[in-house]
Amino acid sequence: MKSDVIVVGGGMVGAAIGYGLASAGAAVNVLDEGDTAFRAARGNFGLTWVQSKGLGVHPYFRLSLESVDAWGAFADELRDKTGVDVAFHRAGGLILCLSEAEAIERLDFIARLDRQAADDGYDCRFIDRTEVQDLFPKARLGSQVTGASFSPMDGHANPLFLLRAMVSGMCKAGGAFHPGQSVERITHAGSGYVVTTASGTFHAEKLVIAAGLGTQRLAAMVGIDAPVRPQRGQLIATERTRELFRYPMSGVRQTDEGSVLIGFTQEDVGLNNDTTAAGMRYVARRAITAFPVLAELRFVRAWAALRVLTPDHLPIYAESKTHPGAFVATCHSGVTLAAAHARLFPGWVLEGHFPERFQTFHPERFNAQATA
Ligand SMILES: Cc1cc2nc3c(=O)[nH]c(=O)nc-3n(C[C@H](O)[C@H](O)[C@H](O)COP(=O)(O)OP(=O)(O)OC[C@H]3O[C@@H](n4cnc5c(N)ncnc54)[C@H](O)[C@@H]3O)c2cc1C
Repeated sequence: MKSDVIVVGGGMVGAAIGYGLASAGAAVNVLDEGDTAFRAARGNFGLTWVQSKGLGVHPYFRLSLESVDAWGAFADELRDKTGVDVAFHRAGGLILCLSEAEAIERLDFIARLDRQAADDGYDCRFIDRTEVQDLFPKARLGSQVTGASFSPMDGHANPLFLLRAMVSGMCKAGGAFHPGQSVERITHAGSGYVVTTASGTFHAEKLVIAAGLGTQRLAAMVGIDAPVRPQRGQLIATERTRELFRYPMSGVRQTDEGSVLIGFTQEDVGLNNDTTAAGMRYVARRAITAFPVLAELRFVRAWAALRVLTPDHLPIYAESKTHPGAFVATCHSGVTLAAAHARLFPGWVLEGHFPERFQTFHPERFNAQATA
């Protein structure tokens, strides 16, 4: 099967890029391994988050902000084209502090980001316990809550609806999604690429590898070193309940349907996406300490998913030097960056307009760090 572009991986990053490319008029085939793969896109928390992004690497803050600023229009566009409402809300978000020590650390962190950003749009402030309680009049705060950072830059969306909308939007624009196609081999042939899966062969002029934890192996086939490793996050969903939380927090957010999502662990356990009693206890305890009302709700579902982390936690965006027309994209905030991915990749992949703000995210930085 022939197309202009093959996107390998139909997770959060590949679906956004596939959607952008198809919307720009390209013939796109997205090949996705499917449910046997580790898929962060199906297990994540759904925050569109900026307040903690990019300390020491200002371009990452800028890119995250650019993406969330584009998110409202992106969500509207997806709804208009596909009928899927991705439940995007951007009223602000909080990171709670459960001790004086956490509050001091948080204050210092946001002060440093604020200094780094200078006049460049960082909007986040520390609020005390009383102000936090005012934001959540229907959920009494636990006694340990000392305050929070609050940023109007932050928001949330339904990540499963987002994935569905991007894939559906891509197909409506003429692209094709191929589940159950685990890519085994990539070869450069003539002016294009031949991509081989267990059940077929696909040809395209260009290629984008966005295969999450599968990226490193596939990127090596086009001469790009894209180191990624898994990090496990465990989450709990409660039964649906009345509105308790108008604002999402890092670790507690209420969905449009009324469930409260509680998370998340950060565990280096390799390719293991099991849930554990210890992990559940950790996330439940912290959330209930912040909001005791959560102990009254039934926990109806728990799951774990694997984050896709680069060594410095920043995205990797690169076009191969040895294999022109072959690109790699990976990041660990695929929901936050979805709008940017959909908007910035088409011009780069189809017309060669390199987005200058991607400069920071070339994987050559790892070689430079190693030799420094
Ligand atoms: C617990 C948790 C919470 C998170 N919370 C947030 C959040 O609140 N906000 C946020 O912005 N981000 C969040 N993330 C991160 C976000 O989910 C990821 O950044 C995003 O899913 C990465 O997208 P990806 O496409 O690179 O990888 P994935 O979403 O994992 O998708 C990779 C895809 O590649 C496919 N694939 C792999 N190998 C092959 C192959 N050989 N051939 C074909 N296809 C292949 C897989 O089938 C899969 O569909 C969270 C992640 C976790 C785990």
